[in-house]
Amino acid sequence: MDSEYVTVSGNIPHENNLGRENMHADETLTMCINGLIQNNLDLSKITKGQKAQDKVFPQPSASEQDCCWNKESLENSFLREEGNIASNNTCPGWAEGDQEDRHILQNNTTIGADKESRVHQGMGPTSDNTPGLIQRREYAEQQDKKRHGKESVMHELSLLVQKTVRNSSWWERRGLDISIIAFGFICAFAGFLLLASSDAFPFLLGFTLLGVAHTVITVKGSHLASHNALTESKCWSKFWIVFFLEVCSAFTAEKGAHAHVKLHHAHTNIIGLGDSSTWKLPFLNRYVYMFIAPLAVPVITPLVALSLLWDVPLKVALRTIFLISLGLWANYWLLINISGFQSVWSAILCMFLSRALLSIPYVHVNIFQHIGLAMFLPEKRPKRMQQMSYGVLNLPRNPILDWSFGHSLINCHVEHHLFPNLSDQLCLKVKPVVSKYLTEQHLPYNEDTYLSRLKMFIRQYEELMVHAPAITDLVGIQ
Ligand SMILES: [Zn+2]
Repeated sequence: MDSEYVTVSGNIPHENNLGRENMHADETLTMCINGLIQNNLDLSKITKGQKAQDKVFPQPSASEQDCCWNKESLENSFLREEGNIASNNTCPGWAEGDQEDRHILQNNTTIGADKESRVHQGMGPTSDNTPGLIQRREYAEQQDKKRHGKESVMHELSLLVQKTVRNSSWWERRGLDISIIAFGFICAFAGFLLLASSDAFPFLLGFTLLGVAHTVITVKGSHLASHNALTESKCWSKFWIVFFLEVCSAFTAEKGAHAHVKLHHAHTNIIGLGDSSTWKLPFLNRYVYMFIAPLAVPVITPLVALSLLWDVPLKVALRTIFLISLGLWANYWLLINISGFQSVWSAILCMFLSRALLSIPYVHVNIFQHIGLAMFLPEKRPKRMQQMSYGVLNLPRNPILDWSFGHSLINCHVEHHLFPNLSDQLCLKVKPVVSKYLTEQHLPYNEDTYLSRLKMFIRQYEELMVHAPAITDLVGIQ
């Protein structure tokens, strides 16, 4: 029993390599077990706010095991998945079986654009609420429901969210978040000026401002840009992705956006297809991983970016190298010429330390909100609402984290995974609708505090960050 336990839990498949030709039997068993976990979950046992580790995982039946051991069906599922991704290229982040969400929110964009054009034409936004239009919308919604036959719960929630989004102004849809990011640039410049002071307090204030502003620009800015949440224009969207990811964050736009939107969002907590393994560094001690290693993120980021350029077109690789260098050089130039740093090394040290100011919570947030929650077998992936409801967790509101990371990464992460193209402000606005709906459907709406999650990860580091959590639990009782 012991050897079986070690073999299975020690072969958690790497997210990016699995699903190809050389799948080992123990990996298949690992995935099988997780699928069974997902299939046997008792929805009624998980209520709002309940922690993921409280779930009860019944043992699988023999027939289910046989089914999961069928390698051919497993490989077919990967082929289906890849086909699905390819067909979704125009609007990344929308998973199988939920085409209606894309349709609905695209409709909403059209309605929003139409509303703005009416305002420009002096017709006034109230024309959007005329009885004729309302009747037409209701009729269209009814037809939509009929078309779907058995009404999808995701479709129903999408309609509710659509209504909220439709009644939102441009300021709520994009304006506030754009203003926060713009204010981040102003704060960064104020930080450079304050760093020129020889007094300790203004110097430290400048350092803090620079660090927080850098996080606003690189985390919130890059994240919203990756989801095309800053603009409706495709060209501008592409420009902002390259600007925020390469110039500001020193990472590659192609690989960064792809990893986040097409791996992390499309395959959240799907074993072998998601990106949770990229956060695991099992050779590190728990305290080193949680509190020291994150400080190296600003140094590691451009190096990882360079290592990812080998398979991109030469033109793209040269652009990425140029823009990353430009961003780092601009930061260095400002420290020398505005902040008055005298030595090269002190300027470089200040640059990387300020970039690392919030990198500890950055790593924490990324692992707290997915790892330790339910994971799913690729061939038995659930509907997206269940996938996100079980596999995503919200942290409470926090002024610093809300401001620098954005609501979609902190207190509205569930909403963000269900509707990835919404801005931070819209995620906050639809949060009551989503939480109420999931609760009514007896689906989990996972919430936990930062401190509670931190304690859990330190206490269960081996289980959560070295072995996959649910797998070891289930194998342990077999
Ligand atoms: Zn996202």
